[in-house]
Amino acid sequence: MEAIAGELARLRAEREELDSRIRLLESQLDATPPASALPAGEGDVGTAGARGGTAACPIRRGNGFTPTDMIHRYSRHLLLPDFGVEGQRKLSQSSILVVGAGGLGSPVALYLAACGVGCLGIVDGDDVELNNLHRQIIHKEAYVGQSKVKSAADACREINSSIKVVEHRHTLKPFNALEIVTKYDIVVDATDNLPTRYMISDCCVLLNKPLISGAALGLEGQLTVYHHNGSPCYRCLFPNPPPVAACQRCSDSGVLGVVPGVIGCLQALEAIKVATDVGEPLSGRMLLFDALSARIRIVKIRGSSSVCMVCGENSVFTQEEFQKFDYETFTQSPMSDKSAPSLDLLPESARVTCKDYKRLIDNGESHILLDVRPTHHFQIASVSQSLNIPLSVLEEKLHMLEISLKETMDASTLNKLPSIYVICRRGNDSQIAVQLLREKGFLSAKDIIGGLQSWAQDVDPDFPVY
Ligand SMILES: [Zn+2]
Repeated sequence: MEAIAGELARLRAEREELDSRIRLLESQLDATPPASALPAGEGDVGTAGARGGTAACPIRRGNGFTPTDMIHRYSRHLLLPDFGVEGQRKLSQSSILVVGAGGLGSPVALYLAACGVGCLGIVDGDDVELNNLHRQIIHKEAYVGQSKVKSAADACREINSSIKVVEHRHTLKPFNALEIVTKYDIVVDATDNLPTRYMISDCCVLLNKPLISGAALGLEGQLTVYHHNGSPCYRCLFPNPPPVAACQRCSDSGVLGVVPGVIGCLQALEAIKVATDVGEPLSGRMLLFDALSARIRIVKIRGSSSVCMVCGENSVFTQEEFQKFDYETFTQSPMSDKSAPSLDLLPESARVTCKDYKRLIDNGESHILLDVRPTHHFQIASVSQSLNIPLSVLEEKLHMLEISLKETMDASTLNKLPSIYVICRRGNDSQIAVQLLREKGFLSAKDIIGGLQSWAQDVDPDFPVY
């Protein structure tokens, strides 16, 4: 009891001290002209112009909150000598677009909403899925199956109802990007794929917006500010896209949930710095984060390139060209998981559907099921009695397949080599494997179309999809 009473007295004293500092700041605020005061008051709409919200994205002021409430809400910001009333005022007059309400976008949107950005736009065309929740912390279980933008916007409004949150429930594409991005002062790229990265960068150059760009994959992340204070655009650094094989995304290679969280927090920080002109933004520098070793490195990157196709001196890249530019063909990679192109390497005679394969099992046909996924995938879940030889080592481990073929033949009453069916996660690697096996003389090898994803969909709904 004594301890509680003591704690209460201490907290009350602390509160009194804070209240007196708040009163002092309030009196300072009252002494300044109304234009620089913190926004408050029902339905008051900001004026158009840079850092003031545009006509299309008017800054919402208050939601029944009085100026005193606003000072109280942001008091810890106001108490920062380097940030203060001026920083908070700039923040409240800025509009920021977050592209992607996923692992990076979650902390970005939450922090920008909490810290009092005047207008926060969120754009994403996907719905919340169960396997998003380990890292996309803005979404709750109750929102699985609903629009990510709705989920994220609701979460932001719950934290801060005094800001304006704008929902853009579409995937950002060349045909709608200019119209959406133009409404904001600052853009945060919180997406996870290469064509979208090029598209957002080009769009920001055309509309002259600073771009806070982040990426997280596996156990690593990176972050920089493009097209701001003379820093390059994405195309200055990477005029040509990397080879397709180098482009992975977390749906294929995994990501530790907190890694995009770290990068997203840093993106929110950079967005706040750019919006308020406080500190030194990461323009012309790139931050590299390695979660395993807990190392952060900051490397200098080149300035903007005078010969850059988009931001260079003689660039002829126009908004019309942007809208027609095919970013998926340019990068040879899809803008979303759902449109991932499937390989088509094999003749029809070398492929079977999952349902055909199931019938063959039911008929007791002697065969081998070869699973060519990486071992750590195989350990997540596998079809019973399958043999795992990852595609990457298939050629050097063909003897394992030969042994297995012989054992299967010995066990069968027929004196005939069993056939080989090859499966993988989505049906691309299995085709490459069948091509290799046929070249090596395993002429009975056949691909199971659509891999384990189709198996779960068409044959065994209890098979876990990951
Ligand atoms: Zn450039």
